[in-house]
Amino acid sequence: MTDNNIFKGKKAAYFTLGCKLNFAETSTFAEMLEKRGVVAAAKGEQADLCLINTCSVTEVADHKCRQQIHKMVRNNPGAFVVVTGCYAQLEPERIAAIEGVDLVLGSNEKADLMQYLSDAWTEKSGADCGEGRGTIISENLHRHHSVKTKEIKSFAPSCSRGNRTRYFLKVQDGCNYYCTYCTIPYARGNSRNPSVESLVAQAREVAERGGKEIVLTGVNIGDFGQTTGETFLELVKALDKVEGIERYRISSIEPNLLTDELIEYCAGSRAFMPHFHIPLQSGSDEVLRLMHRRYDTALFRRKIELVKLLMPDAFIGVDVMVGCRGETPECFEECYEFIKSLDVQQLHVFPYSERPGTAALKIHYVVEDKEKKERSHRLLELSDLKTEAFYKGFIGREMHVLMEKAPKGRAMHGFTDNYVRVEIPAGIAKDEYDNEILKVRLSGFNSDKTALMAELLP
Ligand code: SF4
Repeated sequence: MTDNNIFKGKKAAYFTLGCKLNFAETSTFAEMLEKRGVVAAAKGEQADLCLINTCSVTEVADHKCRQQIHKMVRNNPGAFVVVTGCYAQLEPERIAAIEGVDLVLGSNEKADLMQYLSDAWTEKSGADCGEGRGTIISENLHRHHSVKTKEIKSFAPSCSRGNRTRYFLKVQDGCNYYCTYCTIPYARGNSRNPSVESLVAQAREVAERGGKEIVLTGVNIGDFGQTTGETFLELVKALDKVEGIERYRISSIEPNLLTDELIEYCAGSRAFMPHFHIPLQSGSDEVLRLMHRRYDTALFRRKIELVKLLMPDAFIGVDVMVGCRGETPECFEECYEFIKSLDVQQLHVFPYSERPGTAALKIHYVVEDKEKKERSHRLLELSDLKTEAFYKGFIGREMHVLMEKAPKGRAMHGFTDNYVRVEIPAGIAKDEYDNEILKVRLSGFNSDKTALMAELLP
């Protein structure tokens, strides 16, 4: 049992690297600690507890995680330091050996973070767990708990707002796909999910707290149902009925799991927005085959065409990985031309990074870093052209925007249902617009071309 009083009055500092899922999980940990009396340390203030939620998507991510751990240890002398997340699962011993680290928790242990933390905290603090700083008396524990990938079974529920207007509801974790370049299945384990019923209950709670928009997050969301035998479409239909939630977005869904039925349902749904994020990774069939992706370019094109047929205003974001092993110049040109021909609105471009233990390392053809940079650059330019052209099509249109909090005296931003970013000038922005859906008429681009300016309509 957790002794809820041991954390009372303590100050905590949090740091998250990686995906939306990690951010949502960190916010949930922060909420749990808050309920036990922990307050977030202000900027520059020393913390009693440091929690770092790591990522291991690239070599750079691993390096950043280590840097951040060292930095937090340095800036918070004597603090209890706990590290979790994907990098913690993959390299627990290396992280536990870092001077100043007390506790490392792998993916399976994350669900019981509070229990592990309270046990280790009590141990480190000795019998005296009184109030205030200075109760920590022993050396760093350097303890780690993590099971093998196959044994990762737990699901750490998470639904949090963080400091944004939108809520992030974790509906699924893990992945069974084992794409050749990816370490996520090793770090997060097999695909698993809670029941539709429990997720609907979480969405109802969000509505009770006044939340209007929920982003469904997960690692491979479309694979929902491996634990409960339910389907992602069933989840979507059930969530659509939750009163008070006016907008849902699906953070990312594999193209082969974005079924025609799901697209058709979203097109006629009450609250699922015309906004999709679909990982393509490559527009070359040869590269898709080397990556062990479960679709080809023909399937991808069909999905985009169906979305646009049923939701012509839909915003579609696409992930692309450049410079992976096997991507010859010819393959890249094929990829570029394929993407250019697609009616998609934004590209999220990631340069390939070699990951230890992945099957991609057996492919001989290697792309130089300089070439990866050039390919990324070309795709990012293409992305800008596509986004700009899409935004231009909405100038003069009346749309609804969910406004987001902004510091006093600054312009406010928000998104339309189809994910066009909108700006309201500081002169007419008001605090009470935060989390409100406003009717606006869109005009030209803002000064840095990241949003369309809007005029409020009655
Ligand atoms: S679908 Fe592929 S890329 Fe995505 S998490 Fe699973 S293995 Fe990684």
